[in-house]
Amino acid sequence: MSTKRQVKYVFVTGGVLSGIGKGITAASIGNILKSRGFKVNIQKCDPYLNIDAGTLNPGEHGECFVTYDGAETDLDLGHYERFMEVQLNQSSSLMSGKVLNKVIADERAGKYLGKTVQIIPHVTNAIQTGIRQSAEGFDVHIVEIGGTVGDYESLSFIEAIRELGLSVGTENSVFVHVVYLPFLGASRELKTKPAQNAVRELRSLGIMPDILVARSESEAPDGIIKKLSMFSGVNRESIVLLPNAETIYEVPLTLEERGIGRVISNKLKLGNKKPNLKEWRKIVKRAKDKTVAHIKVGVIAKYLNNQDTYLSVFEALSSATWSQGYQVEISWIEAEKITDENIGDMLSNVDGIVVPGGFGSRGVEGKITAAKYALEHKIPYIGLCLGLQVAVIAAARMSGISDANSTENDPTTLNPVVHTMEDQKGKEATGGTMRLGNYECIIQPKTQTAKVYKNKKVTERHRHRYECNNKYRDKYEQWGIRIAGLSPDGNLVEMIEAIDHPFFLAAQSHPEFNSSPNKPQPMFYGFVKTLINR
Ligand code: GLN
Repeated sequence: MSTKRQVKYVFVTGGVLSGIGKGITAASIGNILKSRGFKVNIQKCDPYLNIDAGTLNPGEHGECFVTYDGAETDLDLGHYERFMEVQLNQSSSLMSGKVLNKVIADERAGKYLGKTVQIIPHVTNAIQTGIRQSAEGFDVHIVEIGGTVGDYESLSFIEAIRELGLSVGTENSVFVHVVYLPFLGASRELKTKPAQNAVRELRSLGIMPDILVARSESEAPDGIIKKLSMFSGVNRESIVLLPNAETIYEVPLTLEERGIGRVISNKLKLGNKKPNLKEWRKIVKRAKDKTVAHIKVGVIAKYLNNQDTYLSVFEALSSATWSQGYQVEISWIEAEKITDENIGDMLSNVDGIVVPGGFGSRGVEGKITAAKYALEHKIPYIGLCLGLQVAVIAAARMSGISDANSTENDPTTLNPVVHTMEDQKGKEATGGTMRLGNYECIIQPKTQTAKVYKNKKVTERHRHRYECNNKYRDKYEQWGIRIAGLSPDGNLVEMIEAIDHPFFLAAQSHPEFNSSPNKPQPMFYGFVKTLINR
């Protein structure tokens, strides 16, 4: 009988404040452990009461990342996938809502008969089960706890990892606490007090951090390590100073250089394997090379208060550009401000445009106008989900169907070229009801899309409710566009392209979720190549 291998756990928590790069730190730890040849998995625990990130406001929370199996998750999962070259899944995102839902359903099902159902042990056990299940079969499993230690809502997660660490034993668990060192301009000094308090907070909950990652805006003096060590009780070798990086992709290299890989390996008794970071170094070098030429891309955006909303689009553009030896400069263009009159001026400074996904009718007319302009003026274009839908609407309007629209944008339109399919009707208002995750697409031969993908069958991730209306399919060529990809049963339009255009490709899916620095996504690669050649 084979004995189950003991998974090693890396728990990543944060103190002082959120938004200091805990997700990048977790992803980077994954990167340097994976580069040592281990089988590494990673998971994000979020204390929100939501079941998933699908109904969170992207303006507040940033992008909703989608896994291949259709989980709607926090954007940190995108970092994890790009840094670690992994495909995460439903189990990789554990939100409070999901945990509580399970506990309450179990209570109703009588699984706790006779017992008082409590946060400890029932909720904390359910969290541990969710973590253990996700970890199964891996050498190392990294768990990032969202939010800041001490937040009321994250207490059950902290307690769960404390217990889990205890039950797997000290050789099998390591606690990494990410803290922040503010710089006081008036006295020109870096303060450690908030970090000290953050460690004390963690200890008061029963966890002694093994490693401290101290984030700061600029390089902190080495003396800080001594001070932090003295007050936190963490070994000096286990404290890493992590100033802002020129590119986030540099963080794994910095952590490795500063000894984090070694400290984790020692603590978890992983032996002293050397990491292979050769390819990663090349990526970072290209990402940092500011001497190369730039291409300029306009992103027709809607949530301009928070550019994290378009994080994967930004990263996909960057990866495609770096891999071809260029840099990309992005202009965020506010869709709502676009009119027929000003669009020429708005796009005068960019080489190509991207119309990303979006929901609701705000800004949609501006996006349609941008698609129209790109069709007319042969401006390279990528449409991502809503970006395909507005392209179809634009093409239809340009050929004279002036009221063409999607039923999302105008429920009463007489020419619904984009609408909801029968099986989606009635599901409009609830979470988790969209077409989510991987779906196959058969690329039509002799299309530009076929040249770009160099593949007949491709799979991309989806997150949408509306579809191209099949009633209008035979009009496409008159409108100047053609179907470039269909679902395997031929029923759904998956991709379109413009006829007689240097580069106008649009997908009903989100190809941006399938891009990483090592492997730029073909559509983005082709788009950037066109811009460079022009
Ligand atoms: N709102 C559109 C739909 O639901 C597009 C979604 C998206 O861009 N992800 O189909």
